[in-house]
Amino acid sequence: MVLATGEGRAILPFNHPLRNKVSCMASQLPEGDPRLECILIDEAAIEIRLAELARAILADAVDAKRLRLVGVLKGGWMFLADLARAIRRENGPRVLYEFIRASTYGAEVKQAGETERQVAIAGLPANIQGDHIVLVEDILDQGFTLSAIRRRLLAEGAASVRLCVFLDKQLEAPAPEVRRIRAELIPDYVGFPVPDRWVVGYGLDVDEEFRDLPYVAIAREEYFQN
Ligand code: 5GP
Ligand code: MG
Repeated sequence: MVLATGEGRAILPFNHPLRNKVSCMASQLPEGDPRLECILIDEAAIEIRLAELARAILADAVDAKRLRLVGVLKGGWMFLADLARAIRRENGPRVLYEFIRASTYGAEVKQAGETERQVAIAGLPANIQGDHIVLVEDILDQGFTLSAIRRRLLAEGAASVRLCVFLDKQLEAPAPEVRRIRAELIPDYVGFPVPDRWVVGYGLDVDEEFRDLPYVAIAREEYFQN
């Protein structure tokens, strides 16, 4: 399967065979959980895409003696675990794995002009001076989290930080601040674009539930209003 690579980017092109796989399959929800609307991305599609992402990451890392992948907990754990195995299958260079913890406060842009959201980052890897890092995250939404982590890694001396997100949320009406952040945060590797809904599974939760689903599902927002 051919990837749209170019300047290190690997996004899901419009003619990619998996494109039409990112659509709702309500009939296939095995649990029949009324809180979930449908399966958005099934296991088979995820597996194919993981192999493609692994190859794209390695293709960009041909000169690297070693690669450092930094996963963002909690949401990114399943993605990084599967990506690690996909990379291993491709016989890549030596890879170091790290995990950091990020908590972003506030779900929405609170006031016009807000350009920063408080992001608590814990567990930064030591000695990243000169390292080429691939930051691995579950989902890119408004971009506050990844933007803060990337800034921090570069401040700590990383030579480069590439962004690898499993899901890229296609925001319908981003605030101007968000639009600006997202414009500066073009991910290098994207698993799948997803609609502007709350998605769960494959590491992603609502109140710590659904992280262990092997697929990505759309949650019915009306069940999760608090
Ligand atoms: P951002 O800082 O990009 O707005 O938010 C990113 C973080 O918010 C993600 O790492 C993820 O933890 C959470 N998030 C954003 N959208 C969703 C979603 O649709 N489902 C889940 N479960 N978490 C999300
Ligand atoms: Mg997260």
